[in-house]
Amino acid sequence: MFKYYPVRTLPEYPDASPYTTGIDVGTPDMHVEPQTLNIGWLGLSTPFPTAAPLPALCDVLWHHCLYPIFQLRGLPYPCPLCQQARYPIEYACDDKRLILGTAEIRVLHPDGRRFACPDLIYHFVVDHAYAMPAALQAGLRYGLEPGSAAFAAIIKDTEKRWMEAMKAWAWQRDYGDAAGA
Ligand SMILES: [Zn+2]
Repeated sequence: MFKYYPVRTLPEYPDASPYTTGIDVGTPDMHVEPQTLNIGWLGLSTPFPTAAPLPALCDVLWHHCLYPIFQLRGLPYPCPLCQQARYPIEYACDDKRLILGTAEIRVLHPDGRRFACPDLIYHFVVDHAYAMPAALQAGLRYGLEPGSAAFAAIIKDTEKRWMEAMKAWAWQRDYGDAAGA
C-alpha cells in the first residue's frame, strides 16, 4: 500500500514520565497538558513488561483509537519492533479500519490523571503483549468514554489550545524582534 518506508521512528518515553511533546517530535513543549503522563511509547532501547492481553481491555483501547488526538499528516510511524516486516500497522475491528502510527490517544482517568499514548499502543498490547501499567488499565476501565460528548470536548479543547500556543510560538520565532516594534 505504501511505496515508501519512513526513516523517522516513534519517539520513546519511559512509562509515567511527564508528557511534553508527543508523536509530532519536531514541535516544542506547548505546556497545554500539564497533568499528563506518557504511557506505551515503546522502542528498542528499553525492555518492557509483558502479559497476555485481556480482550476486554483491548476492546476499550481500540475504542480510544477511534477518537484520537493530534492526528498526523503524512506517512504513519512504523512499529519500532516490527519495522519493515509489518508496515503499515493496520487493523480492522467492528467495521472500522485504522492505520496506526498516525496519532495519539488520551486515556482520562476518573481521578484526573491523563495518559498520553501513541495509537500504536493497541498494536503493542495485542501483538507484542505489552503489559499496560495498572493505572492505565484503571483509566481504560473506569475513565471517560471516548465516544462521549465530554471526552470529545476535552480533545477538541486540548487541540485548540495547542494550536493557539503553536501559532504564538511560531509568531515569536519568526517575528519576535519585530513584534514589540
Ligand atoms: Zn510491532
